Amino acid sequence: MFSTSEYLPDAPEINLRKSMQQTGEARTVLTDRFQRTIDYTRISVTSDCNLRCFYCKRESPGIPTPDDQQMKTGEIKTLIELLAEMGIRKIRFTGGEPLLRPDIVDLVQIAKSTTGIETVSLTTNGTLLEKHFEALVSAGLDGINLSIDTLNKQRFFAITRRDKFIAVHKMLKSLLNSSLLTIKLNVLLLRGINSDEIKEFVALTMRYPVTIRFMELQPFDDRQIWRTGRFMSAEKIRAELFAAYPALSEVSGSATEFFSYRLPGSSGSLAIIPAYTRNFCSKCTRLRITSDGKVLSCLYHTQSLDLLPDLRNRSAKHQLEAIIRKAVSLKPENGKHGNNAKGMSMSEIGG
Ligand code: SAM
Repeated sequence: MFSTSEYLPDAPEINLRKSMQQTGEARTVLTDRFQRTIDYTRISVTSDCNLRCFYCKRESPGIPTPDDQQMKTGEIKTLIELLAEMGIRKIRFTGGEPLLRPDIVDLVQIAKSTTGIETVSLTTNGTLLEKHFEALVSAGLDGINLSIDTLNKQRFFAITRRDKFIAVHKMLKSLLNSSLLTIKLNVLLLRGINSDEIKEFVALTMRYPVTIRFMELQPFDDRQIWRTGRFMSAEKIRAELFAAYPALSEVSGSATEFFSYRLPGSSGSLAIIPAYTRNFCSKCTRLRITSDGKVLSCLYHTQSLDLLPDLRNRSAKHQLEAIIRKAVSLKPENGKHGNNAKGMSMSEIGG
């Protein structure tokens, strides 16, 4: 699925420079060829998931990645320490479903206690969150993105093909009422599936300090659901929001939140995450690492570099660093010409 080395040109030197912060402290900054600062890494800790969202994962997704090909706790620790030395400040654990990993609390604790890492967050479907929530908070977790596409039990089953709504909804309620973490909801909008729930999600922002992230479907499924008329573009989502809420005002959001808004008097905010339309590349600060140790500098490129052999052989740090630097140097200016149409799901890449 991934090609690793044969295509690699001699990577141009990327910029790994020391900058002086206002504090006077010297800090490493990692920049790519287009002067984007790369300070964020999404680490997928498993490709396995306990839901089967119809737009993401097939009911039987083929042969699962064998356990011995997934990065181990110590390997992820090595990687996080190196990434932090190279200038990464934010780590997000994702998957698959990251809470299926028995060491997820340890991983959060490791990341949080790594010098240089400022924020550690998690993207989860929430099904297993109740059991781990307190431990995750104690380990220093800063934020949770809860993926929940619907507030309706029957629809939840239709979308995820698993009867887990009660657990997820219960978790949603406690997250909304918790002031311990930054909470965002990932809502993938599909026309005629959950597009009539926009108002219900928007209503949550009036009461709670939550960010609702309406997401555009990525064209990453071999069944090509995005061709079936269900696709709702970021522009269409924006038009519907403004038609319903003319008083929305623009606010600043994270790099992925291309459009961010707030309603007057609200506690939370709204964001639209363009995906297929790919108009956010100029603000991309991300690297992705798959659970089997491949580093990807762009979601839309199938090119990746394999870190696992060097992690496993405990190779010298400079060897791993060279691979990461090469990946950064290959980061394209724009994902528009990328080609990730090989049927890789977000669950495999790390959503
Ligand atoms: N299991 C975790 C979860 O559900 O949040 C993390 C992995 S999941 C792949 C991360 C996010 O990717 C979810 O919010 C999901 O809706 C989104 N996702 C999956 N397939 C997608 C697609 N084809 N287009 C856009 N988003 C997608």
